[in-house]
Amino acid sequence: MSVAALAGWLLSSVAWGLATGLAGLVTLNWLDYREFLRWSGAPLTRPAARSIFWQTPLDRLFRTIHSGRQRSRSLASRLRFLEATADGLPDAWVLVRGMGEIEQANSTAQRLLGLGNDDQGQNLLGLVRDPALVALMNGEVEEELVEIASPVNDRMRLEIRRIPLDERTLFIARDVTELNRLLSMRQDFIANVSHELRTPLTVILGYLESIADEPLDPRLVSELTRRMSPPAERMKSLVEDLLTLTRLESAPLPNADTIEAVDGGKLLQSLRPEAEQLSGGEHELVFDIEAHLVVECVPGEVQSAFLNLIANAIRYSPDGGRITVRWFGSSGGARFEVEDHGIGIAPEHLSRITERFYRIDLAGARVRGGTGLGLAIVKHILRRHNTRLQVESELGKGSLFFCVFAPQYQPAT
Ligand code: ADP
Repeated sequence: MSVAALAGWLLSSVAWGLATGLAGLVTLNWLDYREFLRWSGAPLTRPAARSIFWQTPLDRLFRTIHSGRQRSRSLASRLRFLEATADGLPDAWVLVRGMGEIEQANSTAQRLLGLGNDDQGQNLLGLVRDPALVALMNGEVEEELVEIASPVNDRMRLEIRRIPLDERTLFIARDVTELNRLLSMRQDFIANVSHELRTPLTVILGYLESIADEPLDPRLVSELTRRMSPPAERMKSLVEDLLTLTRLESAPLPNADTIEAVDGGKLLQSLRPEAEQLSGGEHELVFDIEAHLVVECVPGEVQSAFLNLIANAIRYSPDGGRITVRWFGSSGGARFEVEDHGIGIAPEHLSRITERFYRIDLAGARVRGGTGLGLAIVKHILRRHNTRLQVESELGKGSLFFCVFAPQYQPAT
């Protein structure tokens, strides 16, 4: 009997123990489940479970979510960067579907093609009405490239390239106005050079032809030599000026190896004999020079610029005209001036006289035969020396050409 009672007692306490343990486990899991529900709804933090059974999978889940979020954040930032880059491109791009329905475009497309944000879904061909663009869209253009006037500004020229993608087409528009201007400048330049060389060459050839079948009379030979010299000299000056311009364009900027401290007054005085020879004693040449005024420059270049300006003052002044060359310290720096009382320049020509080959009708000029490159060379040289050519002129009264050498100006010692 007592054995049976003992067994009964033992069995019931094990059952109690088991029941209590089970209840504890269920409570713990319930608490962890509630914590999981709270955690899953809150901003992502590292989970803290009470039981090891929850902790390990929750940690894994946390790591997966965390790294997934990091990846999508980095993808989003790369996408933003790509979008900003594509937006900032100087070229416009437009992505279209089918026969021209706009899907996406960058902000440059607004400036070049006039497309706005609300044009998405519109037809590109309806907004940019140009037969060349229609032909490009239809694949009828061999090089996949056309040039059209911008719908925003008809002076702006756009080169449009078509890039077929899988189901879409990408159009890239580039502003080629400046490129076209440079190309036509180059063509004009070549045409000008050819024209300038052809004229004296035709004269020389004419003389040569006229004596080809003639018996050589020494007097005729000397007369022809005298006549052929000016056009030959002209060709020589032209070629020399062209070479000077080319050299200036390709030469490195003035630097420690080429710059010297030069007494501008002495440099100008050294040009005096050449100026007098050019004038042939027909002008009053006045040199008003401040002594010991030094400028840091490439001496050969500045000498050539000064001589060009003095030569022009002589060339475009009547006999007896006074030409004053000045060199003095001004508030802005060492200042060079050449003043004449010659034919002067009308206002409409002033902004153009430094262009290559630009010449005003020289009916009133005393001496002809300049190359039309002198002021272009001067402008270039002065620009290389951080200064610029300035002109004040009045038609029929005369001109003042000047420049100021600012930073390198050194006071007299
Ligand atoms: P050019 O070899 O014809 O003199 P430049 O480039 O030196 O060429 O000058 C360009 C044009 O500017 C000249 O053809 C002339 O019409 C005008 N010009 C230059 N200097 C003077 C000046 N001192 N007075 C009047 N016109 C000038």
